Amino acid sequence: MPSIIGIDLGTTHSLAAVWRDNQAALIPNALGETLTPSCVSIDDDASILVGRPAHDRLHTHPTRTAANFKRYMGTNRSVTIGTDKLRPEELSSLVLKSLKADAEAFLDETVSEAVIAVPAYFSDAQRKATRTAGELAGLKVLRLVNEPTAASLAYGVHQRDSERKFLIFDLGGGTFDVSVLDFFEGVMEVRASTGDNFLGGEDFTEALVELFCQRNELKANSLTPIAAQRLHQQAERAKRQLTQHGAQGATLELRIDDKEYALELDAATAEHACEHLLQRLRKPVERALRDSKIAVAALDEIILVGGASRMPMVRKLVSKMFGRLPSGHLNPDEVVALGAAVQAGLVARDAGLDELVLTDVAPYSLGIDTAMQVAQNQFAAGHFLPIIERNTIVPVSRVQRIFTVCDSQSVLSIKVFQGEARLTADNVPLGEFTLDVPIKPAGQAGADVRFTYDINGVLEVEAAAFPGGVKRAMVIEENPGVMTPEEIRERLAALGALKIHPRDRLENRTLLTRADRVYEETLGDHRQYLAAHIARFQALIERQETGDIARARGELAALLDRFDVHVTY
Ligand code: ADP
Ligand code: MG
Repeated sequence: MPSIIGIDLGTTHSLAAVWRDNQAALIPNALGETLTPSCVSIDDDASILVGRPAHDRLHTHPTRTAANFKRYMGTNRSVTIGTDKLRPEELSSLVLKSLKADAEAFLDETVSEAVIAVPAYFSDAQRKATRTAGELAGLKVLRLVNEPTAASLAYGVHQRDSERKFLIFDLGGGTFDVSVLDFFEGVMEVRASTGDNFLGGEDFTEALVELFCQRNELKANSLTPIAAQRLHQQAERAKRQLTQHGAQGATLELRIDDKEYALELDAATAEHACEHLLQRLRKPVERALRDSKIAVAALDEIILVGGASRMPMVRKLVSKMFGRLPSGHLNPDEVVALGAAVQAGLVARDAGLDELVLTDVAPYSLGIDTAMQVAQNQFAAGHFLPIIERNTIVPVSRVQRIFTVCDSQSVLSIKVFQGEARLTADNVPLGEFTLDVPIKPAGQAGADVRFTYDINGVLEVEAAAFPGGVKRAMVIEENPGVMTPEEIRERLAALGALKIHPRDRLENRTLLTRADRVYEETLGDHRQYLAAHIARFQALIERQETGDIARARGELAALLDRFDVHVTY
């Protein structure tokens, strides 16, 4: 049977894994690495580069490179790279295509089916965009699995008999997600999902940059772009060094106009600089516990996910908050992909896995616009009346009765919104329709409005007028920011015309993109020395002298290691 792959399509990194020989195995990319940066760049010869070389070009060719596009999934916001305008699902599809090619090389077979993980709070539009990205990449998306659910599957929580409740703490590059899950009688239920969409590992790096500037009396926003970038890289490296061998500390160094600036960093100093960020991690955790109505003491396990949760200061905070150590024997940045592969095994009904049912919750509150009585005969319009509240288990159906507010009112207007704000103007409009109601004095006619939300995130709104009047219904599927089937067909053709950089030449190309970046970052003699090496390597590639290329590649890489301050992945 052909393999189904599991994919973590992350904001910062993406990975693929497969269920094989009764376990989930990570799939290496063309460079032999498991983490592929979620970056896309258009190369000088108009071919598409994905992953590490694209990440390097983020610095050298920012206008031809895109990153962080997961943030815009489900919106119409497109990104211009070079002369092309690409939608977020198209950029994601290029990452998926690259993972698909890696899987095909690794498994030595054609791969056409996948399970993709998405954040638990992803809306209907964001989920549809993710499915579309799969389709554009030539992958049939058999299932979307919630990232926290995937994490718990990776930890094998589903293989235990008893009821288990756990909390998934996912701190990625730019987002923080907290979910509370309940596993009971073979059913995995997401009881709550909250988070902060603007808090992640990147903010910790920025906090170290700020500390550096403060201590050296520099102004962060008056640094040249190159100096700012170098400092950012130093901070990122220091942050990782503190994770790997915290006791030794780390040093940040920066040279501006022949002047040397430095910062010696130990774990306590770094923690102090990040204190405000650590504090911000608390709130979503408290809210998730409150929404799920599960007490800390009732949690069986705390699971850490996301590269930034590796930081000792984050682990310390988690231990303090929960009064125990989190589970952490799997690599936090690999957990979601491994779990997606377990889900893929479940979809394929692999004999090694028992059948498992998963249920979900509505990620946002859904309701209608209503007028609120503020005095006798006086109503204020524009108030939100939730009908299905956030974190209600789906599928669900709820009814709410609404009344006319004027004498002889003949029409009710039903405006549907998603969100948590008190006023509808601050929530997301999903659609509206009108309903004729019998003519009566105010408050003696109205409608029963029923909301039905199914497992695929499709909302149906039905309104029945009373007394004894007409019924009208509307299905909300078409969200703004979702591509129509015709649009998908059209873009599929356009994407098909894009030339993907050949996989077998990726290693050389990646080395050259890195060399270009390091060249731009160095100065003086080093630069000339480096330029000569790069030119020589390029000439060898053009002459296709295979044996010499391999040797020269090793030499150039060693040279770059000497000059490069950038972290390796
Ligand atoms: P996403 O899910 O957003 O794609 P990841 O789970 O890949 O994100 O996490 C990326 C973040 O993890 C980055 O901010 C990176 O700096 C951070 N990170 C990765 N490894 C380490 C480490 N060893 N120490 C500290 N932070 C790390
Ligand atoms: Mg992630």
